[in-house]
Amino acid sequence: MSKEQLKFNSKTIHGGQFPDKAYGAVMPPIYQTSTYAQSTPGGHKGYEYSRSANPTRSALENSLASIENGTYGLAFGSGLAAIDAVIKLLSPGDEVISTNDLYGGSYRIFKRIFENYGIVFHFVGMQDASAIAQYINKNTKLIWVETPTNPMMNIIDIKAVAALAQKNQVLLAVDNTFATPYLQLPLDLGADIVMHSATKYLGGHSDVVVGALVVKDKELADRLYFIQNASGAVCGPMDSFLVLRGIKTLHIRMQRHCENGRAVAEFLAKHPKIEKVYWPGFEDHPNHHIAKSQMKDFGGMISFVPKNGSYKEAIAIVERLQLFTLAESLGGVESLAGHPASMTHASIPAEEREKSGVVDALIRLSVGIEDHEDLIADLNQAIQ
Ligand SMILES: *Cc1c(COP(=O)(O)O)cnc(C)c1O
Repeated sequence: MSKEQLKFNSKTIHGGQFPDKAYGAVMPPIYQTSTYAQSTPGGHKGYEYSRSANPTRSALENSLASIENGTYGLAFGSGLAAIDAVIKLLSPGDEVISTNDLYGGSYRIFKRIFENYGIVFHFVGMQDASAIAQYINKNTKLIWVETPTNPMMNIIDIKAVAALAQKNQVLLAVDNTFATPYLQLPLDLGADIVMHSATKYLGGHSDVVVGALVVKDKELADRLYFIQNASGAVCGPMDSFLVLRGIKTLHIRMQRHCENGRAVAEFLAKHPKIEKVYWPGFEDHPNHHIAKSQMKDFGGMISFVPKNGSYKEAIAIVERLQLFTLAESLGGVESLAGHPASMTHASIPAEEREKSGVVDALIRLSVGIEDHEDLIADLNQAIQ
C-alpha cells in the first residue's frame, strides 16, 4: 500500500520512512558525517556532502512532506533559517504582505534584515482576509500568514487568502508552527509553502532548534533547495533524528494539548480575576467559525489578561507559577508561561505591540500534556 494514502496518525509514524538500506535499522541512523566516499569522481550513492544532503535529514524531510500533504520537505537549522530561505526567493523592490500579529523573530528578520535589502513589508490585520486586497500591487510577490497568531490567537482564513493569492499570482506561505499538521493542512487549503519552527510541537520535547519548509510544486522546491544549499543553514543529523522521533508521537501529544488547552481556557474564562482569555475554541472568538472549518481542534496555546492588570502584575503572576515554567518557546510536553511584552515580543516597538492587542499585562501559556487538574491548581494559586 502507498504510504501517502495513509491517514494522519499513521503518516506521523510511517510517512516517507523506510528501514535503513545498510542494516535494516527501523529508525534512521544518525549519519554524523560531513562527506561520503566516491568510487570515481561523482560516483557516489546519492550523498556527497552533508550541506547538500544527509540521509538522516532526508528521512526527516520525507516525513515533513508526508505529514503536511506536500511533496518536498526541507529541514533547516532553525525556524528563522527556514523563513530566511523563503524571503531569499525575492529581489529588491518586491513586496510582502504579512500578518501584523506575528512571531517577534519573524517581524525582526523582515524589518531589521530584509528591509535593508530593499524588500518592502506591509503588516496587515488579516482577520478579515479582504483587507489584504488593497495592499496588492504589481510588486507583491508573497503573502505571509501565521494562524493562529502569536500571541493573540487570531485566526486567518487560509482558503480565502489563498484565493486572493492565486488570483494575483502571489505566493502564499503559512507559518503552521502553532497549529501543526495535526490540526490544519495549509497546502490542502491552497497555500504554496508551509513553514515550521520544528523547535516547537514537531520536535515536542524542548530539546532542539530546527526549522522546516514543505511545498508541493517541484519548481518551487528546486528554488528553495538551491537557497538551502547555497546559504547553508541546514539541520544537523542529530537534530534531524530528534525531530523525526518527535513527529512519531505528534498526534497523541496534540490530542492531549488540545484537551488540556480546553480545560485551562475554560477555567481562566470563569475566573473572577481574569479580564480576557484568547483561545480560538470559544464560540465568541471573532473567527471561531473559521477555526472550526480549517482546524480539527483548537490547540494548547492560550493568552490571557488579568483584571486591572499591569506590566508588574503580569510579571508577578508568571513568577508565582510553579508547574508552568517561565520560559521562551512553546509546544513541548511541559507547560510553559511567557510574558510577550518583555520576552518573545520585546523586539516589536510598544505602539506596534499595543495596536495588535499585545498589552503589557498579556500572559501567554503553552499548555503541556501534564494532568490538567495540576495545571489549573498552579494557575489558580498564581492568580489569587
Ligand atoms: C519559534 C517560532 C519561530 C522561529 O523559529 P525558531 O526555531 O525559534 O527559529 C517562527 N514562528 C513561530 C510561530 C514560532 O513560534
